[in-house]
Amino acid sequence: MTNTAFSSLKLRLELQENLVSLGYQAMTAIQAQSLPDILAGKDVIAQGKTGSGKTAAFSLGLLQKLNVKRFRIQSLVLCPTRELADQVAKEIRKLARTIHNIKVLTLCGGMPFGPQIGSLEHGAHIVVGTPGRVEEHVRKGTLNLDNVTTLVLDEADRMLEMGFQPSLDAIIEQVPGKRQTLLFSATYPEKIQAIAGAVMTKPVMVKVAATH
Ligand code: ADP
Ligand code: MG
Repeated sequence: MTNTAFSSLKLRLELQENLVSLGYQAMTAIQAQSLPDILAGKDVIAQGKTGSGKTAAFSLGLLQKLNVKRFRIQSLVLCPTRELADQVAKEIRKLARTIHNIKVLTLCGGMPFGPQIGSLEHGAHIVVGTPGRVEEHVRKGTLNLDNVTTLVLDEADRMLEMGFQPSLDAIIEQVPGKRQTLLFSATYPEKIQAIAGAVMTKPVMVKVAATH
């Protein structure tokens, strides 16, 4: 049986302590099945229903390897909508609150460019955004992805349904090939299989049917 204790993961101490203080006692099924591979640096495709805890699965993975002293964008998380990007950024900040000076930036459409460019000039460790706006920043040269080591495609099925494939392709082209790619989706249609085949390296597949 899969071990569901967070303490079995050997997470960095700040993260372990924070999980205890947040009252996260046991891993959800998708976390228990994906986190060992995520923390081992593998590419992972995780399929699970809404509410199954996918955000913490990839967030703990990227936070575990983040070097806060290196003030470069090390993780890029792409989400289909601004609401989802805001939720993910909030969850990452919550899970990272014991890692001092960590900077999480959201880059979403429907927001003015000026403040986003200003924030990018100040720097960030983690960017969470929607594909259209992230692509625009890449094209303008205001977002440099050369130091990204973890790329997360959250709700990948919805991003494709919304027509973001060209933006995703343009963004992924700018992320170093030597990286970890994590793909989360509620469903796993052919289009997702195709994108996974094109942008991931020997992905491990995790599928959880029930919510917990
Ligand atoms: P999904 O992305 O799979 O739809 P979320 O990652 O948004 O789901 O998680 C749903 C909720 O469950 C969030 O409020 C999150 O804080 C909470 N949660 C996630 N993992 C755990 C856990 N191991 N223990 C307690 N609560 C958790
Ligand atoms: Mg989610």
